[in-house]
Amino acid sequence: MSTLTDLTLAEARDALAKGELSSKELTEAHIAAVEQVRPLNAFITETPERAMEMAERADQRRASGEAGVLEGIPLAIKDLFCTEGVLTTAGSHILDGFTPTYESTVTANLWRAGGVLLGKTNLDEFAMGSSNMTSYHGPVESPWKRRGDNRKLVPGGSSGGSATAVSARCALGATGTDTGGSIRQPASFTGIVGFKPTYGRCSRWGVVAFASSLDQPGPMTRTVRDSAIMLRGMAGYDPKDSTSVDLPVPNYEAALTGDLRGLKVGVPKEYRVDDMPQEIEDLWKAGIDWLKAAGVEIKEISLPHTKYALPTYYIVAPAEASSNLARYDGVRYGLRVEGEGDLTSMYEATRGEGFGQEVKRRVMIGTYVLSAGYYDAYYNKARRVRTLIAGDFKGAFAEVDLILTPTAPSEAFAEGEKMDDPIAMYLNDVFTVPSSLAGLPAISVPTGLSANGLPLGLQLIGRAFDEETVFRVGAVLEEASGFDALPAWLAERC
Ligand code: GLN
Repeated sequence: MSTLTDLTLAEARDALAKGELSSKELTEAHIAAVEQVRPLNAFITETPERAMEMAERADQRRASGEAGVLEGIPLAIKDLFCTEGVLTTAGSHILDGFTPTYESTVTANLWRAGGVLLGKTNLDEFAMGSSNMTSYHGPVESPWKRRGDNRKLVPGGSSGGSATAVSARCALGATGTDTGGSIRQPASFTGIVGFKPTYGRCSRWGVVAFASSLDQPGPMTRTVRDSAIMLRGMAGYDPKDSTSVDLPVPNYEAALTGDLRGLKVGVPKEYRVDDMPQEIEDLWKAGIDWLKAAGVEIKEISLPHTKYALPTYYIVAPAEASSNLARYDGVRYGLRVEGEGDLTSMYEATRGEGFGQEVKRRVMIGTYVLSAGYYDAYYNKARRVRTLIAGDFKGAFAEVDLILTPTAPSEAFAEGEKMDDPIAMYLNDVFTVPSSLAGLPAISVPTGLSANGLPLGLQLIGRAFDEETVFRVGAVLEEASGFDALPAWLAERC
């Protein structure tokens, strides 16, 4: 494998800026890596010709002194972002053949910053899942293997294709979307950095909607610095998204000062869940020690409504999903199955065939909790509890600047595991969902290996729109942990 794919995004950017490398060379190397990684099924669509054209234009812009912050950098895009002229599937059969005539704001921002599109990555259908097993386009395999065990592992989900692409080093960065953990949990499973920005920081316009009050795009990269660079290229106010927030986008990289003196970090006692593996508890303790050594004051805090977060999420998210997914009717785009000839039968046949089992489960739960008889008992109750959860964080942030927790309650599991038990699957999100409900920024940083040799991540949650402190502390955790393990996929090639 070419050593060009071993460069981090920041290293590649610097080499491009010094003229040591062209985007054409860098992009060619990544296209070759994308081809090699095909057995892992990380991409639904590869766009090598478009990538080479974009690389050429990036080199020209650089030559004329117009380089953007991601000029010439090859990126992978979760197949939930609409890309003009490029098939966009959301991992679903129902979007068969859907080629958008418009570009999502986030991807448009990335191309304006100079990014190069390598292809569209696989995901759980409509971003519903934690394993990347529910995609109509087949499961994604993680590049990691347990020590001495050849079973195929999941990369996590729903942004599993993006996580695999970055971890297997065929893209310098990838976009993900996070509704309840879909950036952070796969980042933790594959040993990369996943960042969910504050709700409103990145535009949702042109991102296929799952749960609109929770969905948030964010970067998936190998390092915290890369994450900071990429987020700057994605974020920004967008008048086309009414929940986008009109705030200037800081230079996040400048926040990576390494100086944590005076910061207070909270450790929530409610995140000590039953049956959490000892090694995750130990890693959390190590994280506390690393931060203390960097001059941080650690405080135990309480987020008393944490235990209601998962049930709340699994009412709010399906409710919004059932409403958002009502638009797939076979009329204007995507799959159409004629049924028995009349309109209702066409709707039924199209939706019956077009949606997978997990999507149907959520549409049914969502429709149920929004129905006239149950709206108050479930949906309205969940909305009230959500406010209490957000209030817990508000209280905590009066005392501390950040919150440290594990990202996920387990290491990556094998393909097929937990598939027959939706609740076991939903438990993956226990640590990521509360901050999603509260709309707060959070990062997963790879900081350790399990006894099986699999990556484990720690999560930092910050105040709304204070992504800079999250990055600053995340970079110190990353450095202190010295995490440098390689997935089996790469180790075998060295
Ligand atoms: N795993 C969670 C779910 O299935 C989160 C998904 C996401 O963040 N998109 O809903």
